[in-house]
Amino acid sequence: IILAQDLGKTYRSGKLEVPALRKVSFEVDPGEFVAIVGPSGSGKSTLFYILGGLTQATSGSVLIGGTDFARLTDAERTKMRRAKIGFVFQRFNLLPTLSAMGNIEIAHDIANLGAEEKKPIDQPLLEHLTEMLGIKGRLEHRPNELSGGEQQRVAIARALISRPAIVLADEPTGNLDTKNSDAVLHMLRTSSRELNQTVLMITHNPEAAQIADRILHMRDGEITHIENGKG
Ligand code: ATP
Ligand code: MG
Repeated sequence: IILAQDLGKTYRSGKLEVPALRKVSFEVDPGEFVAIVGPSGSGKSTLFYILGGLTQATSGSVLIGGTDFARLTDAERTKMRRAKIGFVFQRFNLLPTLSAMGNIEIAHDIANLGAEEKKPIDQPLLEHLTEMLGIKGRLEHRPNELSGGEQQRVAIARALISRPAIVLADEPTGNLDTKNSDAVLHMLRTSSRELNQTVLMITHNPEAAQIADRILHMRDGEITHIENGKG
């Protein structure tokens, strides 16, 4: 469902050039849970943005479900992203003026923009997500009234509420204690199994990565090796 071929990315600002990715290739099957691990600065978030169609690669290509991102217009790419991908950003990116619930609702609405009928939020799923993530009592609060870990868990509920085919999660447990981190990992894992959802999780925690089917190790913008996870 995801095919990355020879992806390269060089950031340029003025005379400065930062090579962030060089020749990254891999494939992710539908329903597979893949973790990407690597030290800070190894290019993980850069890869996340390119796979989500949020940044253009300097070279190489990304195919999602057989469709080459580069061949789509901006409008088509946006449409596909909204319909298919749930994002958990490293810095959460919650909308500051909306409550936690407002953030979840708007994500659901955006994911359904292209649909023929407007679907209401799946209430049992909302119950389940907010209960498991321990944010049920905080839904009326705005992001600046929530702790970092609570914002992170709202961001995860926001990504999963529309049952996207693909979940891209950048350090989804980065700000969490062990208990909440375990809850998030378990949730991503079961969501992937039950909905046959493809999950790509970036983490610099090798233990968290073990929950995946496969683990891609990155260093200096390259995949150095691929390991089987415990699944
Ligand atoms: P972390 O674990 O700290 O989140 P990462 O693996 O996600 O790190 P990236 O954010 O992908 O790393 O960054 C890879 C490299 O690209 C780093 O050297 C970083 O400084 C550089 N970089 C990232 N974004 C930009 C940008 N917008 N402009 C210039 N350089 C950038
Ligand atoms: Mg990063």
